[in-house]
Amino acid sequence: MLNIVNVGYDSTNYYVIETATTKLLVDVGFPGTLPKLTHALKRTGIALSAIPYLLITHYHPDHAGLAQELKQQGLKLLVLEPQAAAIPQLKRHMKPAYHYQEITLDDTVTLSLARSRAFLAGIGIAGEIIATPGHSNDSVTLVLDAGMAFTGDLPPPHMATDETLQRSWAAIQARHVHTIYPGHGPVYRLAEERHGEG
Ligand SMILES: [Zn+2]
Repeated sequence: MLNIVNVGYDSTNYYVIETATTKLLVDVGFPGTLPKLTHALKRTGIALSAIPYLLITHYHPDHAGLAQELKQQGLKLLVLEPQAAAIPQLKRHMKPAYHYQEITLDDTVTLSLARSRAFLAGIGIAGEIIATPGHSNDSVTLVLDAGMAFTGDLPPPHMATDETLQRSWAAIQARHVHTIYPGHGPVYRLAEERHGEG
């Protein structure tokens, strides 16, 4: 069983990946938007309390702002090694009016990229997390063996104008991905993207 549910709001996509044994939330919204997330989840019949894990594609306000609040709700935050340095920087992007709750690292699951596959297998997800810098240094992509990739704000292939972005896309494409679940905008097929009007 593999179910992907978009629980996004405010023009950002947040995805719940549901397998037979677990649920993983990919990205969360701005600080203070927990009621919006709860509402979006309710519409899809998923309870927040039924989601054990949270992965952030990159530590920007519209993808990570709620992370600490969700940790307080019991979700385990998976932090990839390339992301650890970016977490303390997130508060710089936050206006005081956001009432951002700073993410603490004491109760997170820190993973090396190399160990991500084994960790995901252990919770019942076939896939891995790879470094895909370009939009930001801390950007990672979750690649499912079933051919889906959760790319956060990595620009699509036709906009991959510099070497860093091209390397990131080469890493994704080397893993036989066919469908992209981006942080903003609709899901797209990679082949269509390549031939599309862009
Ligand atoms: Zn974004």
